[in-house]
Amino acid sequence: MSTNCIFCKIIAGEIPSRKVYEDEDILAFHDINPAAPVHFLIIPKKHIPTLADATPEDIPVLGKIMAMAGKLAKQEGCDDGFRTIVNTGRVGCQEVYHLHVHILGGTQPLGPMLVKH
Ligand code: AMP
Ligand code: ZN
Repeated sequence: MSTNCIFCKIIAGEIPSRKVYEDEDILAFHDINPAAPVHFLIIPKKHIPTLADATPEDIPVLGKIMAMAGKLAKQEGCDDGFRTIVNTGRVGCQEVYHLHVHILGGTQPLGPMLVKH
């Protein structure tokens, strides 16, 4: 646990969240400021600040996050696809420095992936 990390505090139960799924390695919970009708985050319980900090020892937990994404998305109502986003670092406009995978979806197609410059 990293002491000043909001997502570590959610894992520890010190900050409430709307839980989607939890096991010994990962936690999934609804985003507090949803950008789509379905928007939740899947995070490793281990504090990994960004995807750029991931190491070979993190392969199992990162694999588990990806392998669970489809099942959880379907469970939350994404019957026909969804989008995964991992914002990384300054250029990726990451706001919370605890690695997280956004799952975004709903029943209608999402907008373009990026606003073109
Ligand atoms: P990112 O820009 O990829 O770092 O995204 C961080 C995400 O975390 C944003 O979509 C926020 O709305 C979300 N977020 C921040 N605080 C909380 C919280 N306490 N519970 C749930 N989601 C949160
Ligand atoms: Zn953390």
